[in-house]
Amino acid sequence: MTNASQVVVIGGGQAGLAAGYHLRRLGVDFVILDGQSTPGGAWQHTWDSLHLFSPAAYSSLPGRLMPPQPGETYPDASHVVAYLADYEKRYDLPVQRGALVQAVQRDGPFLRIQADIGTWQVRAVISATGTWTRPFLPAVPGREVFQGRQLHTVGYRRPGDFAGQRVIVVGGGNSGAQIAADLALAGDVQVTWATRRPPRFLADDIDGRALFDVATARRRALDEGRTDTGGVTSLGDIVAVPPVRAARDAGLLTVKPMFSRLTSGGASWADGSHAGADAVIWCTGFRPVLAHLTPLNLRGRRGHIATHGTRALGEPRLHLLGYGDWTGPASATLIGVGRTARDAARQIRDLVR
Ligand code: FAD
Repeated sequence: MTNASQVVVIGGGQAGLAAGYHLRRLGVDFVILDGQSTPGGAWQHTWDSLHLFSPAAYSSLPGRLMPPQPGETYPDASHVVAYLADYEKRYDLPVQRGALVQAVQRDGPFLRIQADIGTWQVRAVISATGTWTRPFLPAVPGREVFQGRQLHTVGYRRPGDFAGQRVIVVGGGNSGAQIAADLALAGDVQVTWATRRPPRFLADDIDGRALFDVATARRRALDEGRTDTGGVTSLGDIVAVPPVRAARDAGLLTVKPMFSRLTSGGASWADGSHAGADAVIWCTGFRPVLAHLTPLNLRGRRGHIATHGTRALGEPRLHLLGYGDWTGPASATLIGVGRTARDAARQIRDLVR
């Protein structure tokens, strides 16, 4: 049986919910299909100690401020999951769970969505599938010979899993810094933090609020044909959230350049040095989850789909939301996705009415 709706939103994380909020306000008939069985998107799977890099009020989706978490300036992931679950209920968003979408195909004037619970024929699609389920690991020599444990950010939970071990954390971004700090502060893990270039911490008083302002100002400058202000990467790579600051200031973060290869028992550097390791944690980023869009044949540079704002250039009935700045300034953040969701919903309303 083919289900009818004007629009399908694929993915029921924060980006999909923000899209749902705006579609509902505009009176568009839609359904959100989410592959997971419970609300919260990727926030359900992060490590135990993860905290947002902005206070609650600056981590809000459209329409409803995130309430503060008692005792925490920067809420933890469980608070975000609870907020998203409540948001979905409050706005009565039609989310179908356990609905993994396999393919989106052109079907004359429609797009056909093939999910494992059924088929939909729709006038437009918003893809908001995030990045969490597509971790990226770089090709580093020796990865296959290393005898210890290797995991990506997505597999890390807590320092207790590495008690008494020697761990190399790879990656100079926020995940690498936070996981290295988490392990170092535990006191019984020997941590080496390997980064391609020396870690660049943002000033201690800069958090997600300031980053959002900078990203927005940059997008405005580019849109108006003014000089590129450099965006957030011109300021640094790592938000000095309290645990990162604590580990750094206590001298607990042992930073080394990136190693040149893994060996069976550790890692070797270009200068001939070697460090034994029981585990390597690859905090080396993610790629957008776009496999379901393969039949549309839209993938271009760096695996991204070319867009104008959120709209796919090669398929005007498809919008992309939340994957990164290429789909709108700060579109992959809680505070940033609302505006791009609104723009996408308005264009879709105009298309389907
Ligand atoms: P997701 O949360 O990943 O949601 C996508 C949903 O789509 C998931 O439920 C997934 O199961 C589903 N899905 C995927 N494929 C399919 C399919 N084919 N069919 C159906 N469903 C599918 N942002 C902030 O604003 N503040 C922060 O402090 C912050 N910290 C972060 C820390 C880390 C470690 C990471 C990785 C990101 C952080 N972010 C932060 C960025 C961002 O807010 C999160 O990555 C957020 O989860 C992205 O939301 P999303 O809705 O785009 O994707």
